[in-house]
Order: sequence, then C-alpha cells, then structure tokens
Amino acid sequence: MIITDVRPFGADPVDVHVSEGVITRIAPAGGATADPGAGEQLAGEGRLAFPTFADVHCHLDSTLLGLPFRPHTGGPGVWTMMMNDRQHWREPEWPIAQRTTHTLGMMVARGTTVVRSYAQIDADCRLERFEAVLSAKEAFAGRAEVEIIAFPQAGLFREPGVVPLLDEALSTGAATVGGIDPCSLDGDPARHLDTVFELAEKHGATVDIHLHEPAAMGAFSARLILDRTRALSMQGRVTISHGFFLAQLEEPARREMIAELAELDVSMATVAPATSPLPLRELLEAGVRVGLGEDGQRDYWSPNGNADMLFRTWQLAFTQGFRADAQVETALAVATAGGRSVLDPALDRVREGEAPQLRVGDRADLVLLPGETPTALVLDRTFGDCLPGRTVLHAGRVVAQDGELTR
Ligand SMILES: [Zn+2]
Repeated sequence: MIITDVRPFGADPVDVHVSEGVITRIAPAGGATADPGAGEQLAGEGRLAFPTFADVHCHLDSTLLGLPFRPHTGGPGVWTMMMNDRQHWREPEWPIAQRTTHTLGMMVARGTTVVRSYAQIDADCRLERFEAVLSAKEAFAGRAEVEIIAFPQAGLFREPGVVPLLDEALSTGAATVGGIDPCSLDGDPARHLDTVFELAEKHGATVDIHLHEPAAMGAFSARLILDRTRALSMQGRVTISHGFFLAQLEEPARREMIAELAELDVSMATVAPATSPLPLRELLEAGVRVGLGEDGQRDYWSPNGNADMLFRTWQLAFTQGFRADAQVETALAVATAGGRSVLDPALDRVREGEAPQLRVGDRADLVLLPGETPTALVLDRTFGDCLPGRTVLHAGRVVAQDGELTR
C-alpha cells in the first residue's frame, strides 16, 4: 500500500510505502501516482500525519463513556474516590466488558492505537475488572496494541488477598505491575515497593507506580523506586505516573531527581493536570521519556476524558503554558511518539523543538488528520466536527475512518 501526499508532523508532503504492516519507504510526494505498477493507494490529500496517539495512562475498567451522563459524586482524596467507585461500579446499564470494549473502540476510532490501561484488582472486584480489560484487548487484537497494568488501586495490604490476585493477573495477560502511593496508602513504602518489584521480577513485567504523594513524601517514594530500579537493573522498564511532587520540589533537589530519572531511564506518564503539572520541558531536556494519558474517561473519578487524545494534547499544551508553535508541537510529539517510547524503550525519546520522524522500519501506525499545521490542528480541534477526514491505520491496516471503526 502507498499512502500518498501526507505531511508528517507538518513537514513537506511525502508518499509513505507500507508492506506487511511496516513502513518500507518514504519518498517526496508525487512519485507514487506516476507509477502505474504501484499497489493499493490511500489518498492522503495533503493531510497531516502522525504516529497514532498513545494513551499510556487510562483506566478502561472504570469508563462510563457511551452511557447516560452521571453527576460527579466523588469526594476528596484517593481513598474516598476509590470507595465511591467501589460503591457504584456495578450499577451502570452495560456489563463491564461492554464498557471497556466500547471505550477502547472509541479510542481507536479517534486515532489512539497504543494503549496502556489499568485494571483495578482488589478484595471487592478481584479479577472481574481485569478480565473485562483483557476481553477488550482481545476484541481489538490486530487493531490496537494494549498493555494491561495489574493495579492495586486500594493498596496491597489494607485488605487481604490482593497480592495473589495480582500474581494471577500477571500470569494471565497483564504485562505491567502497578503500585500506588507507597507511603500514604499502605503506610509501609519499602514493603509495598519490594512486593511490586518482586512480582515484576517473577513475571518479567514492567512497573508503573501511581504517585500522587506531595513534595517530600513523593520524593521519598521516588527515591525508593529509583533504588530498586538500579538494584534490579530495570532501566527502561519503570514508569512513574502523575509524579505531582516534581512540580513542588525545590532546586537543586528537583534537578538532581530529574537527572537520576534520566540516568535510570525511568519514564513519566502525565494526564496533564490543572495543578502541579509536570516540569515537562526540564524532563525532556534531561532525556526523560514522557507519555500522556486520559486517566479516567468520564468515570466515578472524573467527568473528563472523551477518548480523543487530540483534546488531551490541547490540555497538555494549555497546562504547560505552551504558546509557540514549537511548544504545541512538542505536546503532540509527547502524545504520539512520547507514549510509544514509554512502552518501548528501543524507540527514540522526544526532545523539545525536534519533531519526531517517521522512519522506515516503524510499524505503520498512522493517524491522518486535516489541518493547516500541527499547532492549528490542536487549537482548532473543536471547530465544527473534528472527526471527518480522520483516518487511522494500525500496522498498515485502516482501522477507522471519520471517527467510525471500519469493518
Ligand atoms: Zn490514574
């Protein structure tokens, strides 16, 4: 297949040749149309082209997208929010596997084909939510790459039986073991992280720690994460999500912490929060991999999240105070190439001011979007209906067109 006349990250138009799911040639636009022997063609018509969006922090197991809107009932604090979700998650009109699959379909239809999703595992839901995320992943096999995090949302030790359930999930389809607020939730940070890293070692899994803890407490937990990453040689296999503490640390502690994240190739996942946003430019400058995610998608935790990462890209640019085109393009790079490099450390890091390149040998995951420039695309996303003209390819196959999944 040849995708003709597209502008990767807004650069000059090219034709992208694809064979067996991989980009095999990138040439200036125009050559393919002149070749009568060329295979199937997909007309890019001058659209912008990016690697598909990568959402590396979402909770497919709690989504309520597609269902009637519910007023937000969550209270303050992680435990209160968790209990509110626990009280209600069985109530919605659809079974949970239908909810996870519907939302993953919305994500693919809007251009996200690389996904790292949490699956909450606790004494209440046991493996029910994990199995629902697994069934969504299976429903989209070949159309999206989905990595599942076995996630102890309610802690590892506050309730009995959680660790063996995580162990089971890691044996049956979870690729990543999650942890959460090792000091403030379980109150025993060393034991919490030792357990997470032991499970990772046992299963050859990667690690992702939800770290909401503030300033000094967050820095203390991060210190323990870095120590274990170093001791177990897990460079490139550990992610810290949120990491609100980084925005609150004083210099030089912040600079030193960022340098060590880079040295040990510990990546960060952000959801572009309104308060305590990540020091994104400092992280990228130091060489830390950063990915973006939606977090809750209209669930009991948050009314935000519409399964369209173009909107979250705008939110990242806005919360970072980005105005210059090169900065907004950096937000797009994080939302696409950045998240992919979090999941696959063999891929290039995103650097500020350097548009990622499509490369021969890359899997042909592409989202084509109409727009004047990458920055205009992000800023104009709400003009009219932003889905017409959006084409999504995963491994060289068109999986969605105009916001609808293809058959
Ligand atoms: Zn989260």
